[in-house]
Amino acid sequence: AIPLVIALSTSLAASNGILIKNRLALERMRHVDVVLFDKTGTLTKGEHTVTGVAGAGGTSEDEVLRLAAGVEAESEHPLARAIVKAAKGHRQPATATDFQSLPGRGVQASIDGTRYAVGGPALLREQQIQVPDDLARAADNWSRRGASVLNLVKLDRTPQVLGTIALEDAARPEARDAIQQLRELGVQKIAMITGDARTVAEAVAADLGFRHGVDEIFAEVLPADKDDKVSDLQSRGLTVAMVGDGVNDAPALARADIGIAIGAGTDVAIESAGVILASSDPRGVASTVRLSKASYRKMI
Ligand code: ADP
Ligand code: MG
Repeated sequence: AIPLVIALSTSLAASNGILIKNRLALERMRHVDVVLFDKTGTLTKGEHTVTGVAGAGGTSEDEVLRLAAGVEAESEHPLARAIVKAAKGHRQPATATDFQSLPGRGVQASIDGTRYAVGGPALLREQQIQVPDDLARAADNWSRRGASVLNLVKLDRTPQVLGTIALEDAARPEARDAIQQLRELGVQKIAMITGDARTVAEAVAADLGFRHGVDEIFAEVLPADKDDKVSDLQSRGLTVAMVGDGVNDAPALARADIGIAIGAGTDVAIESAGVILASSDPRGVASTVRLSKASYRKMI
């Protein structure tokens, strides 16, 4: 039988936009030590805009954007949607075929018989692709400002970087307050996990008031490795809540002591979580801690 207090609390939760799928998760939440947030779409809005384009080796900025948009046409990733949007209204859109997604790295496709890839730092590292000096300098400046940088690569026998695109996303204004509230509720450590570059993650962390030496950033993590970071924290004896929205986050949500899916999260994320927040406001995580403390205090 469900104790009356819990039954009441869960219905109170529902009226506050907190859906409890797993009552054990709610019970554990009052003892949470670490809240691990996915970056893109959870701490940030996940609405990127293209803020810079550079070409190399005679490829114009316009051509970089046109080809990249062709390659990204089939991708649902927020970075892809932003590139396609920026290239809208182009007189000659590139038509690509044979799309292939490289999770956590980028996408590939063919345009007019040539194979291209668009991807982040992991793609370059993996294929050991050299970036021309002028592009590397532009990329460095952009990423220090907190922009994500993607490269358009022509996949010849020796792959060649044709251009670089900078995309910016804004932190959710409520995220800073959410973190502050969690600290006040006794959470020891705030952490961020992302497939994005470390420089970008650090810029967002600084914006949100992460504390050096206490809070933690896991950057450039491939989708398949996200749940390992949860285990990492758990092996230090910490009770971990993971907050995410993406397909990528599902295994980590399932692994965490408390998995929390937010707002317009994907179905997979929602299925893997024990707690679902109806809105995308990260302050709902603090409300969940309060709810847990209030519910279980009454019982014992
Ligand atoms: P996050 O953890 O921020 O949700 P992902 O795992 O989805 O990140 O992606 C990690 C990185 O992989 C991105 O920052 C980007 O560099 C690259 N990437 C992923 N999908 C794409 C795509 N469709 N086009 C270009 N790059 C991509
Ligand atoms: Mg995400």
